[in-house]
Amino acid sequence: MVVGSGAGGGLIAGELAARGRRVLLLEVGEHRTAADFVRWEAKANRDLWWPVTRAVPALGGGQAVTLFRGRNVGGGTTINTKVGLRAHSEDFEKWFAASGLLGGGGEPFGEADIAPYYERVEAALGIRKRTDWQQCVATVEPGFAALGATLEPVDSYTDANCMRCGSCLQGCPTNAGKGTLNVYIHPPWASGQLELRAGCEVRRVLIDGSGERPRASGVEFLDPSGESQRVEADVVVAAAGTLGTPGLLLRSGVVQLAGDSPSAAAIGANLGFHPSRLVFGLFDEIQDAHRVYPITAHCMTHQRDADGGFIVEASTIMDPIAFATAVCDEQGAPLWGQELVDVMRDYRRFTGLLVMINDENNGRAYVDEHGHDRYASNFAPSEVERIDAGLAFTRNVLTAAGARRVLATQLFTTHVQGSCRMGSDPARAAVDANCESYDVAGLFVGDGSLVPRTLSVNPSLTIMALALRLADHLDGATHGYFG
Ligand SMILES: Cc1cc2nc3c(=O)[nH]c(=O)nc-3n(C[C@H](O)[C@H](O)[C@H](O)COP(=O)(O)OP(=O)(O)OC[C@H]3O[C@@H](n4cnc5c(N)ncnc54)[C@H](O)[C@@H]3O)c2cc1C
Ligand code: SF4
Repeated sequence: MVVGSGAGGGLIAGELAARGRRVLLLEVGEHRTAADFVRWEAKANRDLWWPVTRAVPALGGGQAVTLFRGRNVGGGTTINTKVGLRAHSEDFEKWFAASGLLGGGGEPFGEADIAPYYERVEAALGIRKRTDWQQCVATVEPGFAALGATLEPVDSYTDANCMRCGSCLQGCPTNAGKGTLNVYIHPPWASGQLELRAGCEVRRVLIDGSGERPRASGVEFLDPSGESQRVEADVVVAAAGTLGTPGLLLRSGVVQLAGDSPSAAAIGANLGFHPSRLVFGLFDEIQDAHRVYPITAHCMTHQRDADGGFIVEASTIMDPIAFATAVCDEQGAPLWGQELVDVMRDYRRFTGLLVMINDENNGRAYVDEHGHDRYASNFAPSEVERIDAGLAFTRNVLTAAGARRVLATQLFTTHVQGSCRMGSDPARAAVDANCESYDVAGLFVGDGSLVPRTLSVNPSLTIMALALRLADHLDGATHGYFG
């Protein structure tokens, strides 16, 4: 039983089904395909995205973060921009420091432990370099050079059918954009090997608490007609995403069954945002940064914490509704009235840079007194410093490139990670190095919430590599749950 069909869950379910395991994949979002995807922003937001929510500062002050994520078969991978990067060695050092995560040889988990999984996922997705930079990248490149930084082509899971239409966030209409939907889920689903049920909201994991150790026995879910259903399973993989899995486990009573163990306390803790901003420069020439493959280039000059702790991607601008609702003035206040009208008249002359910051996983996912998912942000001074430095650098790039005006969004994220982190130390991690709950036998986590510390790169490739590693573990059956 796999809950959630995104980068993690979609891969695990598809892989195991293709190997002949009997898998039920439950997804709350709808099952849509390239034939349904049209560049109609508001419709895609309703059909393919979760309603926008926010992480609000835990202690009243500080910065909120707007949270974006996919809600469909394929999850975030159906509506993302397909940048597929491996983690940096410094990221793995942070993982070990955070949760004591060990690799196969008993040493701190490192590149060698994940490299074979990266290779297999990269091959399946057809990762390639995007060297087809358009005008909007050429415009900003001199700005990076002026600041002693370089732009490089990104690695991306898009094939040669990409027509640079710019509608990745509404689902790729050509299937050039890869994801778990068209790479891992559809092949076994189309051949009848995988049972997929869309429109099914899993409410809780069923846990048998009668034995020595609590044991997952299935799930309870609402089917598309709203009827409550129960299904039994040998193994449950919670892959509802970094923002969904903690609430699912908390509502299932894991903390109470675990007697408030430290590992249960890690459920929902350590939420990382990879907080981001789009920063827009207004140029004299038409940029049409909405009609390109969104991210062909990136600047990794400041990737390591010691070098600033942020990366910048170039160049894109959201579609008009998102741009108009997100763009802020130089003081960070949303634009309104005539000023917004004037900015929108110049829409085609803007190009945008996406700056993403290394954070320290100080956020939290929790369930309120009504049983609803809630999120808190809580940035430390060192994180705020990096956030400010990233914004200042990106503004300076655009100014150096000749922008007449520079505007930006508030903080948002599409890269949440870490809310049920894996580790070899149960005092600091929710699940063990095999992704199994320390508190409930047969309950595995298989999504971005595993990542022990926020990566300095876009996370989907790493989430998929960890998911493939979990699929191998489950299929290997040394755990003994498959009878
Ligand atoms: C706009 C956007 C652009 C992005 N661009 C990139 C990029 O270029 N490169 C990159 O590496 N990453 C990118 N990402 C991030 C990447 O897509 C995510 O990190 C990744 O998809 C997370 O995988 P996941 O399995 O943790 O969760 P998700 O992919 O979010 O999947 C979780 C799934 O679980 C479902 N679910 C939740 N709760 C329940 C429930 N109770 N019952 C049943 N189903 C449930 C959800 O509907 C969802 O489909 C982007 C994300 C967004 C939103
Ligand atoms: S830009 Fe390329 S990958 Fe993105 S939606 Fe268009 S064809 Fe697909």
